[in-house]
Amino acid sequence: MSYQNLKDRKHYEERFDSATVEKCRSGERIVNQTFQMMEKKLTKKELTDKLPGWYLQYSMYYFWFVESAAAARAENREAAITKWMAEDEKKDERLANAHISGGTYCRSCGKDMRVISKDYMRREGHKDDDILIMFECGNCSKRLALWQDGTEWEGTKHECDKCGGETVSKHTKKGEVITWTETCTKCKHVKTETLDINDTKLEPESIDRYLELDRKRFVFDKDMMFKYEQKLKHLVRRAELHAKAEDKAEHVDVFDAIKQIKKLKIAQLKELLEPIFAKNGYSDFKLGDPQVGREVSLEFSCLDTKDDREEYQSRKTLHKAIEKTLIDTNWRLMSAGVSYRLGFLTGSLRAHESEEELRKLVEQRMKSGKFPVTPAKPVQTQEPAAKPELDMRESVQVYFDKLTLGSVPAEITLKSGQVKPTSLPVLSGEMHPLLRVFIPMRYNDDSVPKFVRNYDFKFGDGKHIPKVQKDSRGRKIRGL
Ligand SMILES: [Zn+2]
Ligand SMILES: [Zn+2]
Repeated sequence: MSYQNLKDRKHYEERFDSATVEKCRSGERIVNQTFQMMEKKLTKKELTDKLPGWYLQYSMYYFWFVESAAAARAENREAAITKWMAEDEKKDERLANAHISGGTYCRSCGKDMRVISKDYMRREGHKDDDILIMFECGNCSKRLALWQDGTEWEGTKHECDKCGGETVSKHTKKGEVITWTETCTKCKHVKTETLDINDTKLEPESIDRYLELDRKRFVFDKDMMFKYEQKLKHLVRRAELHAKAEDKAEHVDVFDAIKQIKKLKIAQLKELLEPIFAKNGYSDFKLGDPQVGREVSLEFSCLDTKDDREEYQSRKTLHKAIEKTLIDTNWRLMSAGVSYRLGFLTGSLRAHESEEELRKLVEQRMKSGKFPVTPAKPVQTQEPAAKPELDMRESVQVYFDKLTLGSVPAEITLKSGQVKPTSLPVLSGEMHPLLRVFIPMRYNDDSVPKFVRNYDFKFGDGKHIPKVQKDSRGRKIRGL
């Protein structure tokens, strides 16, 4: 007797992969339908003018609905298959170990019976399948079926739908048609069912022509997982680029103020502070060695030269003078302030170096109203918010690939009216590969929007350069 719940590993792989294909196909359907609808609504000009943008939108939707879904499936694949196999193995073990202690003698002749089969079966009133064990008497061939707990099997119920009475069943075969009839012994109600063996509609085995192809497209191996991770990283990078630009647009006052901050080296700091100390009546100004940790800090010391200045006044005067002097620099007096002992004053200064640190410093100073010393131009609230300015260098790296700077011949009209030959710079390249859909498309797949199928990723082929341009000095340049 062998128990066959546990199957070949391949069986589980196929089961898992089929579900993956299903999931990815449904995601693909959603994306393609959405963009096909959009493609129909747009005019040709609206579509071609922003073709790279539309493609990028498509690629991002495709990423979230299909590529990410496939990656998540791939990540869970091993664990799911192992779990299924363990479950089936356990089921087999339970079946192998199933036995009934006592009471397994023949109800007819009293001889011991042997087990002839064990099966999982639906049992009324039980949530899970129970194990049914079938015995046979070697002496008189009578059979007995018992549940694992020793209860005798109730048998298949033959109940009348109408009165609940017992029914008698019969089946007849006429040609290729089998007919079952169940006749109630009480009310004579007859229930009939037929099966036409030739009727192929009963088992609609439609052939999935693309199953093999789609399995290869959607079941990710290591290589595809790598591509997925690269694209994910790149999309995060793109999102950060835009978030940063938006933040800059929103906090334009802070960024303007940061530009006004002078970043001083220690020598410059010394040069700046020395005369201030002297002017306020402190001599022997000294800077200690810089303490370099996560941040750079410096101790300073000096002597109060004014005989009649009390401790409180002395500390306060120096504190104010330092703060005022450093207000437009990347240095500040540390929060402990200035200490005083017999006219010997000490304190610490700290430098803010990173962009983030500088921003914190500036925001603090702006809150206190002491900075910027020369206020930035008033923000024109009437005007619509300026389009966030992107970091050009980063933008180029995020969006483009194979950039080359070429030129086309042109002529320039000088102020004197003289016309001289010149050239116009032309930037050309391709959309960054990591912004593209990386799951290969099926050939001639009509469900994919046309603009996606035909997109060539190229830009700057020279066709879109305006015929006449002006340079920074307002001189007319005409492409030839
Ligand atoms: Zn017997
Ligand atoms: Zn009946």
